[in-house]
Amino acid sequence: MRVYNFSAGPAVLPEEVLKEAADDMLDYKGCGMSVMEMSHRSKMFDDIIKTAEKDIRELMNIPDNYKVLFLQGGASQQFAAVPMNLMKNKKAAYIITGQWAKKAFQEAKLYGEAIDVASSADKTFSYIPDCSDLAIPDDADYVYICENNTIYGTKYHTLPNTKGHILVADVSSCFLSEPVDVTKYGVIYGGVQKNVGPAGLVISIIREDLITDDVLPGTPTMLKWKTQSDNDSLYNTPNCWSIYICGLVFKWLKKMGGLEAMKALNEKKAKILYDFLDQSKLFKGTVRPEDRSMMNVPFVTGNEELDAKFVKESKAAGFENLKGHRTVGGMRASIYNAMPIEGVEKLVDFMSEFEKNNG
Ligand SMILES: *Cc1c(COP(=O)(O)O)cnc(C)c1O
Repeated sequence: MRVYNFSAGPAVLPEEVLKEAADDMLDYKGCGMSVMEMSHRSKMFDDIIKTAEKDIRELMNIPDNYKVLFLQGGASQQFAAVPMNLMKNKKAAYIITGQWAKKAFQEAKLYGEAIDVASSADKTFSYIPDCSDLAIPDDADYVYICENNTIYGTKYHTLPNTKGHILVADVSSCFLSEPVDVTKYGVIYGGVQKNVGPAGLVISIIREDLITDDVLPGTPTMLKWKTQSDNDSLYNTPNCWSIYICGLVFKWLKKMGGLEAMKALNEKKAKILYDFLDQSKLFKGTVRPEDRSMMNVPFVTGNEELDAKFVKESKAAGFENLKGHRTVGGMRASIYNAMPIEGVEKLVDFMSEFEKNNG
């Protein structure tokens, strides 16, 4: 029996996709082997990666002057690749809205001057700072954000005013959750294991003019976007399996009606949970309402023992991975694209029942 899996990542995948992968496991489309066993240079795999690229381009409406790269090393590897490829003036502005932004910021400091132009650390990252008039140095190479903060449950609903600088965004935990205007960014990247596919793959969408040979000295060949771009993400053996599953998820998203439809569904799911939290006398959300994420919803009872009891009892009732991040405590429900609406409805029923018994 499958549980309702509220994990922040690796996270729930569409059941349909898992079934299709299971059907293809031993013999992918009559070729007598699985996707894990075929050459990444084969016609069969070429078709898989090309179709995946075509479908994500269609879903996100990615303009022709952007490259889509399927890379390894996860989102964390891009924390280094971003400064290595973009720091021409060795200066960049970072907005610190949580642990992932902070890690990217610290990594960038290894390569140049990374400046924290705004932060929400003063209130445990429970909000998105005002980014309408930041002190961004004129010669900054880029402005960096983590668009959806997986751990703290905040999301930028307005992009920062970069004052003409390139915007770089880590979208790991909101990837493909709603439509985006790709032209507003220089680089969009995300580890796929939150909202898209199996771990070990990061998809980077990069404006073509930012992909050059002019990288920091010592940049490893593999981390140079130009290497990956010139070789259509096949410089070396890529994560074939994850690319294949992501491709199936893209097809599923198209069948669901694309990103407009996913946005509507995600809003509906998030509203059920937030509406409950807003009227509850026991549970409360931890994020400033206007900055709430549709994907990651942290909440607390205000009593650690009760939190632990809730996590334990919810698990026994078939709701998995509701324990909050180790640095925040409390609970967190990640309700990504593949979480069915019934999962959220049943969770709210369960919370309501728990409140009655423990209020
Ligand atoms: C999970 C996560 C990461 C780290 O991803 P890895 O693929 O494990 O490196 C980075 N950024 C965000 C926003 C995340 O949610």
